[in-house]
Amino acid sequence: MKTQVIKIDAENINENALKPAAEALKQGMTVAFPTETVYGLGANALDGIAVSKIFKAKGRPSDNPLIVHIADREKVSELTSFIPDKAVALMDKLWPGPLTLVMKKSSVIPKEITAGLDTVGIRMPEHPVALELIKLAGIPVAAPSANVSGKPSPTAAQHVLDDLDGKIEMIVDAGSSRVGLESTVLDVSSDPPVLLRPGGVTPCQIEEIIGHIEIDKTIMNKVTADNVPKSPGMKYKHYSPKAHVIIVESSDINKQAEVMCYLAEKYKKEGKKVGVCATDQTFDKYCLYDTISMGDRNHPETIASSLFSIFREFDGRRADIILAEAVDQNGVGLAIMNRMVKAAGYDIVKADLVNSIGG
Ligand code: AMP
Ligand code: MG
Repeated sequence: MKTQVIKIDAENINENALKPAAEALKQGMTVAFPTETVYGLGANALDGIAVSKIFKAKGRPSDNPLIVHIADREKVSELTSFIPDKAVALMDKLWPGPLTLVMKKSSVIPKEITAGLDTVGIRMPEHPVALELIKLAGIPVAAPSANVSGKPSPTAAQHVLDDLDGKIEMIVDAGSSRVGLESTVLDVSSDPPVLLRPGGVTPCQIEEIIGHIEIDKTIMNKVTADNVPKSPGMKYKHYSPKAHVIIVESSDINKQAEVMCYLAEKYKKEGKKVGVCATDQTFDKYCLYDTISMGDRNHPETIASSLFSIFREFDGRRADIILAEAVDQNGVGLAIMNRMVKAAGYDIVKADLVNSIGG
Protein backbone atom coordinates (compact mmCIF):
# COMPACT_ATOMS: atom_id res chain seq x y z
CA MET A 1 0.00 0.00 0.00
CA LYS A 2 1.28 3.49 -0.83
CA THR A 3 0.73 6.03 1.94
CA GLN A 4 -0.29 9.40 0.53
CA VAL A 5 0.64 12.57 2.45
CA ILE A 6 -1.61 15.62 2.15
CA LYS A 7 -0.20 18.91 3.49
CA ILE A 8 -2.72 21.32 5.02
CA ASP A 9 -2.13 24.81 6.42
CA ALA A 10 -3.97 24.78 9.76
CA GLU A 11 -4.32 28.58 9.72
CA ASN A 12 -5.90 28.63 6.30
CA ILE A 13 -7.53 25.28 5.60
CA ASN A 14 -7.99 24.39 1.96
CA GLU A 15 -11.19 22.36 1.99
CA ASN A 16 -10.61 20.93 -1.47
CA ALA A 17 -7.22 19.57 -0.45
CA LEU A 18 -8.78 17.93 2.63
CA LYS A 19 -11.72 16.35 0.78
CA PRO A 20 -9.86 13.22 -0.45
CA ALA A 21 -9.00 12.41 3.19
CA ALA A 22 -12.66 12.79 4.23
CA GLU A 23 -13.67 10.64 1.26
CA ALA A 24 -11.14 7.96 2.22
CA LEU A 25 -12.60 7.85 5.75
CA LYS A 26 -16.13 7.53 4.33
CA GLN A 27 -14.95 4.63 2.16
CA GLY A 28 -13.63 2.69 5.14
CA MET A 29 -9.93 3.54 4.78
CA THR A 30 -7.42 4.57 7.46
CA VAL A 31 -6.27 8.21 7.59
CA ALA A 32 -3.82 9.70 10.09
CA PHE A 33 -4.59 13.30 11.02
CA PRO A 34 -3.34 15.96 13.43
CA THR A 35 -5.11 16.73 16.69
CA GLU A 36 -4.00 19.13 19.40
CA THR A 37 -2.91 16.16 21.58
CA VAL A 38 -1.05 13.83 19.18
CA TYR A 39 -1.59 12.55 15.61
CA GLY A 40 -4.52 10.11 15.46
CA LEU A 41 -5.10 7.15 13.14
CA GLY A 42 -8.70 7.52 12.01
CA ALA A 43 -11.34 5.24 10.55
CA ASN A 44 -15.15 5.29 10.34
CA ALA A 45 -16.27 4.55 13.92
CA LEU A 46 -19.55 3.04 12.73
CA ASP A 47 -17.85 0.48 10.47
CA GLY A 48 -16.36 -2.51 12.33
CA ILE A 49 -14.25 -3.58 9.34
CA ALA A 50 -12.73 -0.10 8.93
CA VAL A 51 -12.02 -0.01 12.67
CA SER A 52 -10.26 -3.38 12.59
CA LYS A 53 -7.79 -1.91 10.04
CA ILE A 54 -6.59 0.48 12.78
CA PHE A 55 -5.80 -2.42 15.11
CA LYS A 56 -3.96 -4.23 12.31
CA ALA A 57 -1.84 -1.24 11.20
CA LYS A 58 -0.82 -0.37 14.78
CA GLY A 59 -0.46 -3.93 16.03
CA ARG A 60 -2.82 -2.85 18.82
CA PRO A 61 -4.18 -5.51 21.18
CA SER A 62 -7.87 -5.99 20.36
CA ASP A 63 -8.90 -5.58 24.02
CA ASN A 64 -7.76 -1.94 24.07
CA PRO A 65 -10.78 0.24 23.16
CA LEU A 66 -10.66 3.25 20.83
CA ILE A 67 -11.76 6.83 21.39
CA VAL A 68 -14.44 8.15 19.03
CA HIS A 69 -13.85 11.69 17.74
CA ILE A 70 -16.71 13.99 16.80
CA ALA A 71 -17.03 17.55 15.50
CA ASP A 72 -20.62 18.13 16.57
CA ARG A 73 -22.17 17.82 20.08
CA GLU A 74 -25.42 16.38 18.64
CA LYS A 75 -23.53 13.18 17.83
CA VAL A 76 -23.06 12.36 21.54
CA SER A 77 -26.71 11.35 21.96
CA GLU A 78 -26.49 9.02 18.94
CA LEU A 79 -23.38 7.30 20.28
CA THR A 80 -24.41 6.95 23.93
CA SER A 81 -27.43 5.60 25.81
CA PHE A 82 -27.14 7.99 28.77
CA ILE A 83 -25.47 11.39 29.21
CA PRO A 84 -24.90 12.30 32.89
CA ASP A 85 -25.32 15.97 33.93
CA LYS A 86 -21.64 16.10 34.89
CA ALA A 87 -20.73 15.10 31.33
CA VAL A 88 -22.88 17.93 29.97
CA ALA A 89 -21.17 20.43 32.30
CA LEU A 90 -17.73 19.25 31.17
CA MET A 91 -18.64 19.34 27.47
CA ASP A 92 -19.96 22.89 27.93
CA LYS A 93 -16.71 24.12 29.47
CA LEU A 94 -13.92 21.93 28.08
CA TRP A 95 -14.99 20.84 24.59
CA PRO A 96 -13.56 21.10 22.06
CA GLY A 97 -10.37 20.05 23.83
CA PRO A 98 -8.15 17.25 25.14
CA LEU A 99 -10.81 15.56 27.31
CA THR A 100 -12.33 12.12 26.52
CA LEU A 101 -15.54 11.24 28.34
CA VAL A 102 -16.42 7.58 28.87
CA MET A 103 -20.21 7.03 28.88
CA LYS A 104 -22.67 4.15 28.40
CA LYS A 105 -22.63 3.29 24.70
CA SER A 106 -25.56 3.03 22.29
CA SER A 107 -26.16 0.12 19.91
CA VAL A 108 -24.63 1.93 16.88
CA ILE A 109 -21.12 1.45 18.31
CA PRO A 110 -19.47 -1.66 16.83
CA LYS A 111 -17.89 -4.13 19.26
CA GLU A 112 -14.44 -3.56 17.72
CA ILE A 113 -14.41 -0.01 19.18
CA THR A 114 -15.17 -0.86 22.81
CA ALA A 115 -13.41 -4.21 23.12
CA GLY A 116 -16.62 -5.67 24.50
CA LEU A 117 -17.17 -2.96 27.19
CA ASP A 118 -20.63 -1.37 27.53
CA THR A 119 -19.08 2.11 27.52
CA VAL A 120 -17.54 4.29 24.83
CA GLY A 121 -14.94 7.09 25.05
CA ILE A 122 -15.87 10.23 23.10
CA ARG A 123 -13.92 13.41 22.44
CA MET A 124 -14.29 16.58 20.39
CA PRO A 125 -10.77 17.67 19.40
CA GLU A 126 -9.99 21.39 19.16
CA HIS A 127 -7.52 21.18 16.26
CA PRO A 128 -9.13 23.04 13.33
CA VAL A 129 -7.92 20.46 10.77
CA ALA A 130 -9.29 17.52 12.82
CA LEU A 131 -12.63 19.29 13.23
CA GLU A 132 -12.87 20.15 9.54
CA LEU A 133 -11.92 16.63 8.45
CA ILE A 134 -14.53 15.02 10.72
CA LYS A 135 -17.16 17.54 9.56
CA LEU A 136 -16.39 16.88 5.89
CA ALA A 137 -16.50 13.11 6.42
CA GLY A 138 -19.83 13.49 8.26
CA ILE A 139 -19.15 10.43 10.44
CA PRO A 140 -17.73 9.84 13.92
CA VAL A 141 -14.06 8.92 13.60
CA ALA A 142 -12.35 6.31 15.80
CA ALA A 143 -8.76 7.40 16.32
CA PRO A 144 -6.07 6.10 18.65
CA SER A 145 -2.59 7.58 18.45
CA ALA A 146 -1.07 6.97 14.99
CA ASN A 147 2.00 5.04 16.18
CA VAL A 148 2.99 1.39 16.32
CA SER A 149 1.49 0.12 19.59
CA GLY A 150 3.82 0.57 22.55
CA LYS A 151 6.00 3.26 20.94
CA PRO A 152 5.93 6.97 21.85
CA SER A 153 2.90 8.71 20.35
CA PRO A 154 3.48 10.78 17.19
CA THR A 155 3.41 14.54 17.51
CA ALA A 156 4.36 15.22 13.87
CA ALA A 157 3.47 13.66 10.50
CA GLN A 158 7.05 12.42 10.09
CA HIS A 159 6.66 10.29 13.26
CA VAL A 160 3.55 8.70 11.69
CA LEU A 161 5.49 7.97 8.49
CA ASP A 162 8.37 6.49 10.51
CA ASP A 163 5.94 4.01 12.12
CA LEU A 164 3.16 3.38 9.60
CA ASP A 165 4.41 4.16 6.08
CA GLY A 166 2.90 1.58 3.72
CA LYS A 167 0.41 0.37 6.34
CA ILE A 168 -2.20 3.15 6.10
CA GLU A 169 -3.84 4.94 3.18
CA MET A 170 -3.23 8.58 4.02
CA ILE A 171 -1.63 11.11 6.34
CA VAL A 172 -2.86 14.68 6.73
CA ASP A 173 0.17 16.78 7.68
CA ALA A 174 -0.53 20.09 9.44
CA GLY A 175 2.60 20.53 11.56
CA SER A 176 3.27 19.62 15.17
CA SER A 177 0.67 18.84 17.84
CA ARG A 178 0.38 21.57 20.49
CA VAL A 179 -0.25 19.54 23.67
CA GLY A 180 2.03 16.61 22.81
CA LEU A 181 0.40 14.09 25.19
CA GLU A 182 -2.85 12.18 24.68
CA SER A 183 -6.21 13.35 25.99
CA THR A 184 -7.34 13.08 29.59
CA VAL A 185 -9.73 10.10 29.89
CA LEU A 186 -12.51 10.53 32.47
CA ASP A 187 -15.10 7.83 33.14
CA VAL A 188 -18.37 9.67 33.83
CA SER A 189 -20.43 6.46 33.66
CA SER A 190 -19.84 6.12 37.41
CA ASP A 191 -20.28 8.69 40.17
CA PRO A 192 -17.94 10.11 41.35
CA PRO A 193 -16.28 10.05 37.93
CA VAL A 194 -12.88 8.36 37.69
CA LEU A 195 -9.78 9.74 36.00
CA LEU A 196 -8.48 6.81 33.93
CA ARG A 197 -5.66 8.63 32.15
CA PRO A 198 -4.21 12.09 32.88
CA GLY A 199 -3.69 14.33 29.86
CA GLY A 200 -3.94 17.87 28.55
CA VAL A 201 -6.91 18.74 30.81
CA THR A 202 -5.84 18.66 34.49
CA PRO A 203 -7.75 17.09 37.43
CA CYS A 204 -8.02 20.60 38.90
CA GLN A 205 -9.76 21.97 35.80
CA ILE A 206 -12.26 19.09 35.98
CA GLU A 207 -12.92 19.40 39.72
CA GLU A 208 -13.56 23.14 39.37
CA ILE A 209 -16.51 22.22 37.15
CA ILE A 210 -17.98 19.00 38.63
CA GLY A 211 -16.44 18.67 42.10
CA HIS A 212 -14.59 15.63 43.43
CA ILE A 213 -13.29 12.94 41.06
CA GLU A 214 -11.43 9.76 41.85
CA ILE A 215 -8.04 8.97 40.38
CA ASP A 216 -7.36 5.43 39.15
CA LYS A 217 -4.50 4.04 41.23
CA THR A 218 -2.71 2.57 38.22
CA ILE A 219 -1.95 6.04 36.84
CA MET A 220 1.30 6.22 38.79
CA ASN A 221 1.60 2.69 40.17
CA LYS A 222 2.52 -0.63 38.68
CA VAL A 223 -0.29 -2.81 37.38
CA THR A 224 -0.55 -5.92 39.58
CA ALA A 225 -3.13 -8.65 40.20
CA ASP A 226 -4.87 -6.42 42.80
CA ASN A 227 -4.22 -3.16 40.99
CA VAL A 228 -5.91 -3.53 37.60
CA PRO A 229 -6.58 -0.36 35.57
CA LYS A 230 -10.18 0.42 34.59
CA SER A 231 -8.86 1.69 31.28
CA PRO A 232 -7.75 -1.45 29.45
CA GLY A 233 -5.06 0.43 27.51
CA MET A 234 -3.20 1.40 30.65
CA LYS A 235 -2.11 -2.16 31.37
CA TYR A 236 0.17 -2.36 28.34
CA LYS A 237 3.79 -1.26 28.01
CA HIS A 238 3.45 2.16 26.51
CA TYR A 239 5.12 5.23 25.13
CA SER A 240 8.47 3.42 25.03
CA PRO A 241 11.43 4.36 22.88
CA LYS A 242 13.89 1.59 21.91
CA ALA A 243 16.33 2.92 24.51
CA HIS A 244 15.91 1.93 28.14
CA VAL A 245 14.46 4.89 30.02
CA ILE A 246 15.52 5.61 33.62
CA ILE A 247 13.86 8.37 35.61
CA VAL A 248 15.69 10.22 38.35
CA GLU A 249 13.47 11.78 40.99
CA SER A 250 14.36 14.21 43.80
CA SER A 251 12.90 17.05 45.81
CA ASP A 252 16.14 18.97 45.12
CA ILE A 253 17.11 19.67 41.50
CA ASN A 254 20.82 19.91 42.33
CA LYS A 255 20.80 16.47 43.91
CA GLN A 256 18.77 15.19 40.95
CA ALA A 257 21.34 16.52 38.47
CA GLU A 258 24.19 15.09 40.55
CA VAL A 259 22.67 11.59 40.45
CA MET A 260 21.82 11.98 36.73
CA CYS A 261 25.49 12.84 35.99
CA TYR A 262 26.70 9.93 38.12
CA LEU A 263 24.50 7.51 36.17
CA ALA A 264 25.42 9.08 32.81
CA GLU A 265 29.10 8.61 33.62
CA LYS A 266 28.59 5.05 34.85
CA TYR A 267 26.72 3.96 31.69
CA LYS A 268 29.17 5.81 29.44
CA LYS A 269 32.05 3.88 31.04
CA GLU A 270 30.14 0.66 30.35
CA GLY A 271 30.23 1.63 26.67
CA LYS A 272 26.54 2.59 26.48
CA LYS A 273 25.27 5.52 24.46
CA VAL A 274 23.48 7.81 26.90
CA GLY A 275 20.88 10.49 26.18
CA VAL A 276 19.93 13.00 28.88
CA CYS A 277 16.46 14.60 29.12
CA ALA A 278 17.11 17.77 31.12
CA THR A 279 15.03 20.85 31.79
CA ASP A 280 15.90 24.46 30.94
CA GLN A 281 16.83 24.92 34.61
CA THR A 282 19.41 22.10 34.59
CA PHE A 283 20.55 21.85 30.95
CA ASP A 284 23.99 23.40 31.61
CA LYS A 285 24.83 20.76 34.21
CA TYR A 286 25.00 18.06 31.54
CA CYS A 287 27.50 19.61 29.09
CA LEU A 288 29.57 16.40 29.05
CA TYR A 289 26.65 14.35 27.73
CA ASP A 290 24.26 14.21 24.78
CA THR A 291 21.49 16.34 26.28
CA ILE A 292 18.16 17.75 25.15
CA SER A 293 16.04 20.07 27.29
CA MET A 294 12.43 18.93 27.60
CA GLY A 295 11.40 22.50 28.45
CA ASP A 296 10.81 24.84 31.36
CA ARG A 297 9.87 23.37 34.76
CA ASN A 298 7.80 26.48 35.47
CA HIS A 299 5.80 25.87 32.28
CA PRO A 300 5.20 22.09 32.23
CA GLU A 301 3.13 22.37 29.05
CA THR A 302 6.45 22.99 27.23
CA ILE A 303 7.72 19.65 28.59
CA ALA A 304 4.49 17.83 27.63
CA SER A 305 4.73 19.06 24.06
CA SER A 306 8.32 17.89 23.56
CA LEU A 307 8.57 14.65 25.58
CA PHE A 308 7.58 12.09 22.93
CA SER A 309 9.52 13.77 20.13
CA ILE A 310 12.65 13.78 22.32
CA PHE A 311 12.25 10.04 22.98
CA ARG A 312 12.04 9.53 19.21
CA GLU A 313 15.02 11.82 18.63
CA PHE A 314 17.19 9.77 21.00
CA ASP A 315 16.10 6.58 19.23
CA GLY A 316 17.27 8.23 15.99
CA ARG A 317 20.62 8.93 17.69
CA ARG A 318 20.74 5.23 18.71
CA ALA A 319 20.85 5.89 22.46
CA ASP A 320 20.94 2.77 24.64
CA ILE A 321 19.89 4.58 27.81
CA ILE A 322 17.76 7.69 28.26
CA LEU A 323 18.13 9.38 31.66
CA ALA A 324 15.18 11.67 32.33
CA GLU A 325 14.59 14.18 35.11
CA ALA A 326 11.29 13.67 36.92
CA VAL A 327 9.20 16.84 37.21
CA ASP A 328 6.52 18.02 39.63
CA GLN A 329 3.22 16.13 39.40
CA ASN A 330 1.08 19.26 39.66
CA GLY A 331 -1.23 20.23 36.80
CA VAL A 332 -0.16 18.73 33.49
CA GLY A 333 2.87 17.33 35.39
CA LEU A 334 0.71 14.32 36.38
CA ALA A 335 0.26 13.40 32.70
CA ILE A 336 3.98 13.96 31.99
CA MET A 337 5.03 11.71 34.87
CA ASN A 338 2.42 9.07 33.96
CA ARG A 339 3.91 8.81 30.44
CA MET A 340 7.49 8.88 31.78
CA VAL A 341 7.00 6.11 34.34
CA LYS A 342 5.23 3.89 31.80
CA ALA A 343 7.97 4.54 29.23
CA ALA A 344 10.53 3.64 31.88
CA GLY A 345 8.69 0.48 32.89
CA TYR A 346 8.73 1.98 36.44
CA ASP A 347 12.55 2.18 36.53
CA ILE A 348 12.78 5.16 38.90
CA VAL A 349 15.89 6.16 40.85
CA LYS A 350 15.02 8.08 44.02
CA ALA A 351 17.97 10.48 44.28
CA ASP A 352 16.99 11.53 47.84
CA LEU A 353 17.81 8.01 48.99
CA VAL A 354 21.28 8.06 47.42
CA ASN A 355 23.62 9.13 50.22
CA SER A 356 27.09 9.19 48.79
CA ILE A 357 27.93 9.01 45.16
CA GLY A 358 30.86 7.06 43.89
CA GLY A 359 31.61 5.80 47.41
P1 AMP B 1 -5.31 5.87 22.60
O1 AMP B 1 -6.44 5.76 21.67
O2 AMP B 1 -4.11 5.10 22.17
O3 AMP B 1 -5.07 7.28 22.99
O4 AMP B 1 -5.84 5.15 23.91
C1 AMP B 1 -7.17 5.32 24.33
C2 AMP B 1 -7.23 5.15 25.82
O5 AMP B 1 -8.59 5.32 26.25
C3 AMP B 1 -6.80 3.76 26.24
O6 AMP B 1 -6.06 3.84 27.45
C4 AMP B 1 -8.14 3.07 26.43
O7 AMP B 1 -8.04 1.99 27.33
C5 AMP B 1 -9.01 4.21 26.96
N1 AMP B 1 -10.43 3.96 26.67
C6 AMP B 1 -11.07 4.09 25.49
N2 AMP B 1 -12.36 3.73 25.60
C7 AMP B 1 -12.55 3.36 26.88
C8 AMP B 1 -13.66 2.86 27.62
N3 AMP B 1 -14.83 2.65 27.04
N4 AMP B 1 -13.48 2.56 28.93
C9 AMP B 1 -12.28 2.76 29.52
N5 AMP B 1 -11.18 3.21 28.86
C10 AMP B 1 -11.31 3.51 27.57
MG1 MG C 1 -1.97 5.35 22.04
